[in-house]
Amino acid sequence: MELSNRIAVITGGGRGIGRVVALAFGRAGADVAVFARTENEVRSVAEEIRGECGVRALYATCDVSDVESVKRAFALIVKEFGRGADILVNNAGIAESAPFIKTEDELWQRHLAINLSGTFYCMREALPAMIELGWGRVINISSIAGKTGAPYIAAYSASKHGVLGLTRSAALEVATRGVTVNAICPGYVETDMTEHAIENITIRTGKSAGEARTVLEEMSPQRRLVTAEEVSALALLLASHEGRGINGQAINVDGGSVLS
Ligand code: NDP
Repeated sequence: MELSNRIAVITGGGRGIGRVVALAFGRAGADVAVFARTENEVRSVAEEIRGECGVRALYATCDVSDVESVKRAFALIVKEFGRGADILVNNAGIAESAPFIKTEDELWQRHLAINLSGTFYCMREALPAMIELGWGRVINISSIAGKTGAPYIAAYSASKHGVLGLTRSAALEVATRGVTVNAICPGYVETDMTEHAIENITIRTGKSAGEARTVLEEMSPQRRLVTAEEVSALALLLASHEGRGINGQAINVDGGSVLS
């Protein structure tokens, strides 16, 4: 996929899925802006992209749940690259688990603030430039937990369901403006987030790390975890000219564990 002359912003681009997507977009020729809270991680990804891909790359320390922080980060793109982003990947997210009746206000609010409001703030900041340009792509990283429920993740699942509502409504609003809005719904991906889920299972059940990993692998009919590269391959398609007819969709990358 060819993305030269495009400007892509990837939230949560400092590690995990976001880092792999940011590098893939850089390799496809896009200038890239990487946002997250941990400065040394976003700086290092931006340096990696500049070194490897020969495109422009900037980073901003940004907390997507803080509307002012989001505004500052998007303003930096206009200052450094001369115009707003035309591809936004809303990937920043957290996942913590708790039994439903022990889900505390702070955990609930944190998930809504980062996973849902963060996605909304970034879309609201990015869409005007896309509409003005007559071309744009928004790719929201939801989850299969955005389509179905599971025990112990009510806050995470509710926030990711919300992301699909944002995706579908915005997609219909901008459909005639050259802009598409889609979501990707991965199953368990090989990242730090999944390593924490494995640690949690070991603590709660006494299973070994290997056994806990097998529990997650067996949730997929393919009996394996997804890789970040599989997610980035779909993000590239959605960002491309060839992907222009795909709009308002929520596409699973999960080996077939959720069939809707
Ligand atoms: P990681 O925990 O490896 O990375 C998360 C990224 O999001 C980090 O760069 C983190 O940086 C950033 N982030 C977290 N909170 C904020 C915030 N408030 N503001 C800005 N950036 C933030 O997670 P993954 O790569 O695994 O997950 C990426 C996305 O994919 C998430 O939205 C997740 O829900 C989703 N997903 C993941 C799955 C998995 O199995 N791993 C499955 C399905 C969906 P920092 O902490 O420095 O801010």
